[in-house]
Amino acid sequence: MVVSKASPPVTCSDSTINLEKGDPLVFGKYWKKKSDECSVVIQGWEFLSYLSDTSNVCWYMLPELKGAIQRLHHVVGNAVTQDKYIVIGTGSTQLFMAALFALSPSQTPDHPFNVVSAAPHYSEYKPEIDVLRSAVVQWAGDAGVYDKNEPYIEVVNYPNNPDGTIRGPVVKSAAKGNLVHDLAYYWPQYTPITHQADHDVMLFTFSKCTGHAGSRIGWAIVKDIEIAKKMTRFVHLGSHGVAKESQARAAKIMGAICDDYQKFESIESELFFGYCKNILRERWEKLKGAIEKSKVFTLTKYSRAYCNFANESFETYPTFAWLKCEEGIENGESYMGKLKIRARGGPGFGVGPNYVRLTMIGMDDDFNELLKRLSMLSAIQISNS
Ligand code: PMP
Repeated sequence: MVVSKASPPVTCSDSTINLEKGDPLVFGKYWKKKSDECSVVIQGWEFLSYLSDTSNVCWYMLPELKGAIQRLHHVVGNAVTQDKYIVIGTGSTQLFMAALFALSPSQTPDHPFNVVSAAPHYSEYKPEIDVLRSAVVQWAGDAGVYDKNEPYIEVVNYPNNPDGTIRGPVVKSAAKGNLVHDLAYYWPQYTPITHQADHDVMLFTFSKCTGHAGSRIGWAIVKDIEIAKKMTRFVHLGSHGVAKESQARAAKIMGAICDDYQKFESIESELFFGYCKNILRERWEKLKGAIEKSKVFTLTKYSRAYCNFANESFETYPTFAWLKCEEGIENGESYMGKLKIRARGGPGFGVGPNYVRLTMIGMDDDFNELLKRLSMLSAIQISNS
């Protein structure tokens, strides 16, 4: 068989593996062990009302969820919640749109506000804005090249989806800009917690914190009460609040994580963040070996940092592997396709097709199959050399 680097072997008789989405199924192993402790029983008469706490800006939020979010950030030390407002949404997806609504003018401006994020950026920002066909906000692409003298909103995502880097704002325009910090992955299973984040609008999600994406709970921590009120109004108009069943479940699970960490005799590797970090570390070590041998892709290099939460230094173990194709391979997504691996290509993230993203938080079987298929590439390199 003659095989070149540009054309991988189409010998995978097995089925396609889907590594395209960041479905957090890897964390299921931990939650199976905790099944009983984290069960929630809801009686037929409970949660009939739209309202939860009318004294709170976010009136549909259960007080126990608010308390659990504050406690979790206090235990992990990754964000300041004191003297701030918490607004919850149906996933942080809804809160991203709520933040854009709240930070843009209430009257329709002459030109829509530009929303930018440094490339490679999360692939859903653009479609989530485009679908609104709004006269108030529009997607304006890569923050790194934004030079218009017009007001803008910059989305800063760290650790960044897709490449796991820690970032700050990059826009250099002299115009007035607002920032939204998307901190979906600023949790200690993925990255060292080096500081308590303290930005004007911070978005977090239950999906990537604990892996319960199906519950659709996100929260924003907001400095300014007027912004928090507008975000709450957006959720009010979009969905009249957030399902209380999901809120109760999120509160229970966050509480269980905190209880474990606050137990005197707890062993880090058996607690949620330590346990999940070990899984990710092991996966990353295996993937790095396989990628190096494949000679087809290269990976982003990450430096070590001291984690104030875990009291040790470690590298970032991002949720996604961001692969750059070696010279001679123009399209990473279609290359993966020939290996029967579904992956997301660079253009969705605002860069070229020579980049491709794979999830690192899927099922074990799929991850092991990925390693197997990458090892086929290295076998071919060896036999061709
Ligand atoms: N921001 C980033 C960077 C994400 O990766 C995701 C999930 N893929 C979200 C926001 C949305 O998360 P949620 O499930 O809470 O809507």
